[in-house]
Amino acid sequence: MHTHGSAVIVGASLSGLMTALTLSQIGMRVTLLERSDDTGRTGAALHVPNGLLERITGLPSTQVPQPITPGIQTWFAVHGALRAAIDADPRIELRQNTAVRRVDQDASHAWAVTGSGERVVGDVLIGADGHRSVVRQHVAPHKPDATFAGYVIWIGIADEEAIGSRRWPRDVAFRGDNTNTLLGYPLPGVDGSTAVDSRRLGWAWYDASRNGLLRSSGAVDGNVVRHSLMPAGIPNTTYRELAGQARRLFPSPWSDAVLDSIDRRAVIGTPIAEYVPDQLVRGRLALVGDAAHVPTPMTGSGFAESLYDAEALAEALAAQPVGTGIDAALLDYEGARLRSARGLVQSGQGFSRSFAARAA
Ligand SMILES: Cc1cc2nc3c(=O)[nH]c(=O)nc-3n(C[C@H](O)[C@H](O)[C@H](O)COP(=O)(O)OP(=O)(O)OC[C@H]3O[C@@H](n4cnc5c(N)ncnc54)[C@H](O)[C@@H]3O)c2cc1C
Repeated sequence: MHTHGSAVIVGASLSGLMTALTLSQIGMRVTLLERSDDTGRTGAALHVPNGLLERITGLPSTQVPQPITPGIQTWFAVHGALRAAIDADPRIELRQNTAVRRVDQDASHAWAVTGSGERVVGDVLIGADGHRSVVRQHVAPHKPDATFAGYVIWIGIADEEAIGSRRWPRDVAFRGDNTNTLLGYPLPGVDGSTAVDSRRLGWAWYDASRNGLLRSSGAVDGNVVRHSLMPAGIPNTTYRELAGQARRLFPSPWSDAVLDSIDRRAVIGTPIAEYVPDQLVRGRLALVGDAAHVPTPMTGSGFAESLYDAEALAEALAAQPVGTGIDAALLDYEGARLRSARGLVQSGQGFSRSFAARAA
């Protein structure tokens, strides 16, 4: 079924892009507002399901602008493929360098107010603005913030050429001890190639022993995660300590990948936040992705859950008669997604609590 009308989406990372495509597929005009310009983005690895782009665009595989191979892919590869689909869709307008300060609604419209004071109006407004969501402040004012889970994840990617290709892992691996867990994953090359010497190893190191650094740098403030530690913001002493630990704790080739990333100062530290939602919608506003629910990456499901949000939201809106029942459609969306989203975050909290407690 098709609907009409317009949607404003705040945030054009993976959830915002996927939601724009599913809403366009049901006939809505979409304006995406993104504060960044695609530089300085961070991301780990994600599991891409079969036929992802066909599912969310409704196009046959021969018409997908930039196909993506199913399996483990970098954030950048997934983002690139979604961006190509967005650029090819005439119903979607992406506006970068446009930060949203606040959102609001009345009986017939919802809108975002940008940093320059412009009001961008639609029939619905979707918050896809991540774990520190501005839209969540409006949807769930009683519970606006995700909370710090008690540990950081250091992430990096190393080229096979730099670390040597002997004993190349075939699968995701978990290594380490009680307070340091390394999740390693083999990745194709930047061009998608899996040929020897062009592959890469990605790694994510769960570390509950550096909360002092997170607090002194302002990355974590009280219970709230403010920002990631970018490569230049990680002290040299921390790089040296991490290198020593990596040599002791992790076997080759994972230690080689970590040490190569440290040598190049190509490591990002992301303090992990969690958010169990009580609600996903209010009136004409709805949340998707990490704005709606923030699980620890240990669940490995944040991306899949964001895809389900994008699909469920379009399904609920398409089921309503044209021009009516937006509030009811959004409540249907919440009904379809809330339980599963809560369950996912709660399942990860068991890991988070025991992992953080071991280092305390
Ligand atoms: C270290 C790490 C590892 C992860 N590993 C995995 C994994 O292995 N598997 C998995 O499935 N998931 C993983 N995830 C989660 C996954 O990346 C996310 O769930 C998924 O990408 C959806 O994110 P999002 O688009 O909702 O939010 P985000 O990626 O946070 O994007 C939010 C977007 O909104 C923009 N924005 C924010 N505020 C505003 C504003 N006021 N105005 C305009 N724009 C704004 C931001 O610039 C950003 O582009 C991981 C996450 C992290 C942090």
